[in-house]
Amino acid sequence: MSPSLQGQRIFVTGGSSGIGRGICERLGRENARVAVGFHSGDERAEQVAETIREAGGEAITVPADVSEENDVEVAFAQIGEAFGGLDSVVINAGLQADASLAEMSLDQWRKVMSVDLDGAFLVARAAVRHFQRRERDETETVGKLVFVSSVHEFIPWACHVNYASAKGGVEMLMKSIAQEVASKGIRANGIAPGAIKTPINEDVWSDEEKLEELLKIIPFGRLGETEDVAAAAAWLLSDESDYVTGTTLIVDGGMSLYPGFIGNG
Ligand code: NAP
Repeated sequence: MSPSLQGQRIFVTGGSSGIGRGICERLGRENARVAVGFHSGDERAEQVAETIREAGGEAITVPADVSEENDVEVAFAQIGEAFGGLDSVVINAGLQADASLAEMSLDQWRKVMSVDLDGAFLVARAAVRHFQRRERDETETVGKLVFVSSVHEFIPWACHVNYASAKGGVEMLMKSIAQEVASKGIRANGIAPGAIKTPINEDVWSDEEKLEELLKIIPFGRLGETEDVAAAAAWLLSDESDYVTGTTLIVDGGMSLYPGFIGNG
């Protein structure tokens, strides 16, 4: 438990499912005040909020298509009204629309770009505008951003060029923002998950053969759990990481350590 998470007002986009859900529930257990963002999953988001409330925490649900500028503005206004301000945002909402390059439509390209990259920009911009309005002592941290990216921000991914390009963009977005706003007491960091068991990759982990293939490239020999990512997010949002900005925590069970070289390559 981190004392600095207690009472922190935190917005998690994509809180209605998978990794975002795990982060919301972890933050709820840390007694943070959690705004559970959702797009299509209003009932799932309400379940997440209810789980937090049943455990004695505070949570609201916040609808927004993160690729829509107005939705994002309305979401921040709703949270401001409910919580009287905001301390941190976890920029997690994302999706895939997979195809080989030759088969990929412009709509598939734009869909992923608009949610995974435009959405990250719109939410980060709204958050920074909000943080900048807060009163600040000279060295105080007034806001924290955590971007949930992917190991595919640096590992190329055939047949997923839209997703890998968007996540590569998220890495540079995060670092450039971190550089720009550090002097204003705002920290920005990223998490690059490997293969985490969530609905986004159910087609892989629910198929025995595909799962076996995937596990070959994960030295830990297991898929990640949402709690593995939530623990990293909790640390990046806490005062324990107060001198950390512009960095990405890789949470991947060793997937990015060139597992093909195990056993001398
Ligand atoms: P997930 O279970 O499919 O959850 C995706 C979340 O994003 C849902 O809450 C969904 O909301 C939200 N979302 C989708 N489109 C949205 C939009 N237009 N506006 C607002 N929210 C939207 O997937 P996940 O695995 O938890 O993924 C979460 C993040 O982790 C993504 O950015 C993903 O790229 C990243 N990631 C995942 C893995 C993995 O192995 N699972 C690995 C690396 C990175 P609704 O359900 O309410 O529509």
